[in-house]
Amino acid sequence: MPEGHTIHRLANLQKKLFAGRVVAASSPQGRFSEGAALIDAHVVRTAEAVGKHLFQHYRGAPTLHIHLGLFGKVATGVGEPPVPWGALRLRLVTDEAWLDLRGATTCELLEPYEVAALIARLGPDPLRSDADPVRAWQRIGRSPTEVGALLMDQKVLAGIGNVYRAEILYRHRVDPFLPGRQLPEEVWVQMWADLVTLMRSGVRTGRIETVRAEDRARVRGPLQRSEAGYVYRRQGQPCRVCGTEIRTEVLVGRNLFWCPHCQPPGARGC
Ligand SMILES: [Zn+2]
Repeated sequence: MPEGHTIHRLANLQKKLFAGRVVAASSPQGRFSEGAALIDAHVVRTAEAVGKHLFQHYRGAPTLHIHLGLFGKVATGVGEPPVPWGALRLRLVTDEAWLDLRGATTCELLEPYEVAALIARLGPDPLRSDADPVRAWQRIGRSPTEVGALLMDQKVLAGIGNVYRAEILYRHRVDPFLPGRQLPEEVWVQMWADLVTLMRSGVRTGRIETVRAEDRARVRGPLQRSEAGYVYRRQGQPCRVCGTEIRTEVLVGRNLFWCPHCQPPGARGC
């Protein structure tokens, strides 16, 4: 599933291509015909992301809300749109650009109060300048649930997926199974600041790169894909710092990865 940085990149691109433009909206597949009719011939005011949710706000029409889920795909381009193919839920076309949406978990229109209610249910998003990390701490610092599970809970934090979860826990040497209420607040403050930096870099580059320069095998040259992370999908391989085999286990339905030496049971971060 795409993580928050990917959704923010999509929102930035949609803002650039569609804000201030009239769109022709259609649902070639037919599943979103009524919704498409309501935004058709309206002007896109702006686009924004909150966590993994994408919103397109219109002048004089409801807001388009998209959640890609596991299988959703957005394609955009400039010039003439391609001939429609497959299960094309929504197509937006302007004089200069087009957008195709397929396979999304959610594609719906929301009134402003519904948008507000949805956003209120989400935790703070490290990629938004209006985010308040204290809201996340109020949940984490009181919870008996594992930190590794809390980080993936969109009600606690918005936009964090499986890769950032594993990497941020490693970078701060936190045991993924530590109950939230045992995590020191100062460690959380550092983790949040680190998430902001890492995720902003993810928005710029489109990639998740978490390995510090001093922990790379090769100091020079561009970062290879295989060198991008400390623990994610590196089970059985040696830890970049201590050489211990990286482990994996399912936590909240997704594989968690960690180093049993750098993040031993009870490790509360440094
Ligand atoms: Zn290690």
